[in-house]
Amino acid sequence: MKSFCMYCGNSKPDAHQICGSCFAIPETHKDLIYSIIMCHSPDEPHLNFLSIGEIEELCEEIRKGNKVEVSPQVFSQAEEALSAVRSLGSPQLISKFSRISSPMVMIMLAMLLVGIIFGA
Ligand SMILES: [Zn+2]
Repeated sequence: MKSFCMYCGNSKPDAHQICGSCFAIPETHKDLIYSIIMCHSPDEPHLNFLSIGEIEELCEEIRKGNKVEVSPQVFSQAEEALSAVRSLGSPQLISKFSRISSPMVMIMLAMLLVGIIFGA
């Protein structure tokens, strides 16, 4: 799976991991959605929200200093995917989340999910 940093446009190992280039972690709900959108897996096409070409275009915009923008449809699809994780309805996405190796990111993600669940 390929993931790209929504802050600097460089590739990183996993959507929820710290970026090796700018050391940013997606913290807000919106940033997490964008990070999910900016993942591409050739093995799991049903988890892709954009084509790899579209993601690369987004990265190009980020490197130029522009804001990331996706269509509202894509954004709501990713938002639904995230809420599917919340309701434990999507095994694929759970396995995607469980690949997180850094304990700190794991804790942050857990806190974030708790925040979402309890309507923070
Ligand atoms: Zn980065």
